Amino acid sequence: MAPSSTNRDRRRVVLLPLPYQGHINPMLRLAAALHSRGLAVTILHPETRAPERRKLPADYRLVTIPDNIPPEVAASRDVASFVFALNRNCAAAFRDYLAGALREEEEGEDGHVAFVVADVDWFVPLSVARELGVAALALMTSSAVRFLVYLAYPSLCHKGYLPVQESNFNIAVEELPPFVVQDLHLVMDKTRHLAYTDLLAHIVAGVRQSSGLIINTSEDIEGMEIERIRSEIALPVFSVGPLHMMTSSSVESSLLTEDRSCLDWLDTQRPNSVVYVSFGSLVGIDTDEFLEMAWGLANSQRPFVWVVRPRLVHDCESSAIPGELQQKMGNRGRIVSWAPQQEVLRHPSVAAFLTHCGWNSTTESISEGVPMICRPLSGDQMGTARYVCDVWKVGVRVEVENQLKRGEVQAAITRLMDGKEGEMVRERMRDLRHVVVKCTSEGGTSDVALQRLVDSNI
Ligand code: UDP
Repeated sequence: MAPSSTNRDRRRVVLLPLPYQGHINPMLRLAAALHSRGLAVTILHPETRAPERRKLPADYRLVTIPDNIPPEVAASRDVASFVFALNRNCAAAFRDYLAGALREEEEGEDGHVAFVVADVDWFVPLSVARELGVAALALMTSSAVRFLVYLAYPSLCHKGYLPVQESNFNIAVEELPPFVVQDLHLVMDKTRHLAYTDLLAHIVAGVRQSSGLIINTSEDIEGMEIERIRSEIALPVFSVGPLHMMTSSSVESSLLTEDRSCLDWLDTQRPNSVVYVSFGSLVGIDTDEFLEMAWGLANSQRPFVWVVRPRLVHDCESSAIPGELQQKMGNRGRIVSWAPQQEVLRHPSVAAFLTHCGWNSTTESISEGVPMICRPLSGDQMGTARYVCDVWKVGVRVEVENQLKRGEVQAAITRLMDGKEGEMVRERMRDLRHVVVKCTSEGGTSDVALQRLVDSNI
């Protein structure tokens, strides 16, 4: 089909998301923000977990590339193996696609590819684009401080902070205050630690070869961290987030079907009374933790909406709640397999978010001014929880002594929902919300950075 003249005349951006929900969402939000500023959009996606064409705006192009990844590798929680396989298996198809796009551009059949944006995990495409002479920027979907951890990883290993051992969990990391060792990463298995270290080395090398780094954060919430990145990599850095606030046009990017009935249920609840509970798209918990969480919620006597998605509980087939517990929960608890999270957080009945502290969940909570109860489990989550509880002070932590206990869940809910501490946390959250609203509004730091990216001739 011949390209329409509008498509031919517009500068085009080619975006390459990593096929995980927490990475697809910010990349598609960036696509929408760039599109609303006049760029034509191509989403280049591996076959695994590719978005459905019908869900994307009509004038986006969607190109899927074969990845030859067996479903069991794609579904496993071994992120490093999956990311290496993607980079290896998609390299040739990515090169062919980009070379073809450049040919069409030269022959006047299609618009100019202004730049490529690839998730930082796509280190091979970042270098392929460079070889072909196309500007390629890396997108860090998580925080700036997480990228500082990536940069520091080899020296943190060299200094003996990593791999993490239980005996050094609470040692201060002088290079990255206010982190303690367990905020860096909770990989204790030696083989997995080595694979992860290798992955981060590839990611950092890929970013260093790219034309610039885009981060899903704001100068106004991570200004010092961004400055430090600028001083450590000689590249343009664009902090254009939180990306879900950068455009009013939304792109449907959920891989699972949202159960919207929880919104009707929220309508029946008192304002500011409900705890929303979700652990994002990837982490798994064991049956003991699941049941303790359920008892903690039931005993808290608060209404709650809990996302129990498929594979949340990793050592048992079903997440069935025992009858006695169901009775205790009564009509107070609503369990869904996937929620329209942003709408839930925006709902006036929601008072708190019990979260694993994924970066998207955290920024979505901040933008709605909902204080957090943090139960981080892996990856960047511990570091984000440190910022939520100890830097911005807009949440409280579930204080877990060893294995999670129901009383610890209940205590954290009470700390946030009742009493002086909770009041102060809520007030600071209101202030932080103003900060992110301001930086993403016209003339704010993220708005200006996004326009600089659109206008740049990288
Ligand atoms: N999400 C959702 N419905 C749910 C749970 C999560 O739409 O029931 C979305 C959430 O809004 C966020 C993303 O899934 O944008 C999860 O990303 P995050 O970085 O918080 O966590 P991850 O899944 O990467 O651990």
